[in-house]
Amino acid sequence: MREFFLNSGIYFEENVPLKKLTTFGTGGPARYVVQPKDEREISAVLTYLKQNDVPYFCLGGGSNVLASDDGFSGVVIVVGRFMSQIFFENGLLVAQAGAKACQVAHFACINGLSGAEFLAGIPACMGGAAYMNAGCFDREMSDVVAGVKAADENGEKEFGHARCGFAYRKSVFQSNGMIVTRVLLALKPEKPEKIRAAMKEILEKKKLTQPLEYPSAGSIFRAEGGAPAGLLIDRAGLKGLRAGGAEISLKHANFIVNKGGATAKDILELMDAAGSAVKRKFGVVLRPEIKYLGDTDDIGRLSYSFTL
Ligand SMILES: Cc1cc2nc3c(=O)[nH]c(=O)nc-3n(C[C@H](O)[C@H](O)[C@H](O)COP(=O)(O)OP(=O)(O)OC[C@H]3O[C@@H](n4cnc5c(N)ncnc54)[C@H](O)[C@@H]3O)c2cc1C
Repeated sequence: MREFFLNSGIYFEENVPLKKLTTFGTGGPARYVVQPKDEREISAVLTYLKQNDVPYFCLGGGSNVLASDDGFSGVVIVVGRFMSQIFFENGLLVAQAGAKACQVAHFACINGLSGAEFLAGIPACMGGAAYMNAGCFDREMSDVVAGVKAADENGEKEFGHARCGFAYRKSVFQSNGMIVTRVLLALKPEKPEKIRAAMKEILEKKKLTQPLEYPSAGSIFRAEGGAPAGLLIDRAGLKGLRAGGAEISLKHANFIVNKGGATAKDILELMDAAGSAVKRKFGVVLRPEIKYLGDTDDIGRLSYSFTL
């Protein structure tokens, strides 16, 4: 594999600690991390990995991922800084998938375009935001995405909004296995002062309600039907519950925070405690929103059973 990366000229590193690539700050070494600079390199890597049956995982900002303490023996494809341009094309704001969501929000703001304000408070890259249909305060990616470009071993394809399969924290890219390369946004003209004020309000609301002072991966469980997951976990009396260096946040019970030296095992233990208690007390099955990066799907193996 090393030879393939060397010959292809694709940027790669070996034995990279995943705790450096994820906002939770957990994770052992990834055998290889590659950072493609365009869709052609993505297709070349995927062709090689699929032909040789090598497991891989695509990572953006790493803000919705729990990485295994044992690391990952496959290849992590980081769509990040080498694919992070933001520009205009045919009246749309185009963000390469590695562009940071907050930078897209600021770029839209200085260009007097409204609609992307909610992205200011999401620590994602645009590919991850499209993949997750990320959103907050009643706005989500599907409200502003005109289209998405994505690549696999057969090259790059464009998906119009209707073909992106957006639903609550879902998109077609979660099932078609393609890697998002570009996100096209349709935004509306507005005065930059008004946009800036809206972004400030969003950031202040987040700071008040979320434990942003500690590493986390945002909401652990999905918010579907009935009472929000955080409220149920709170009512089950689990706020402040600790396992090793991890804690169910006192500020927002759907956040697990890394208070120092937390392992993935600690976090899984708290997820299991929350899922089991909420199921037992309220008959509600919490479904994880975060994704697992490791050789085995340890979230799928939590002892309380759920289906995704
Ligand atoms: C403090 C904090 C606050 C948060 N607040 C919010 C919020 O308000 N709303 C919200 O929705 N989320 C929130 N999140 C969660 C997270 O930011 C989102 O889920 C975000 O969309 C993840 O983007 P990412 O680039 O970090 O993706 P990653 O965490 O790197 O990956 C998440 C998933 O996307 C896939 N993926 C990433 N990039 C690509 C790509 N280019 N192509 C294909 N698949 C890809 C990965 O394989 C993985 O399955 C928060 C997280 C934190 C830490």
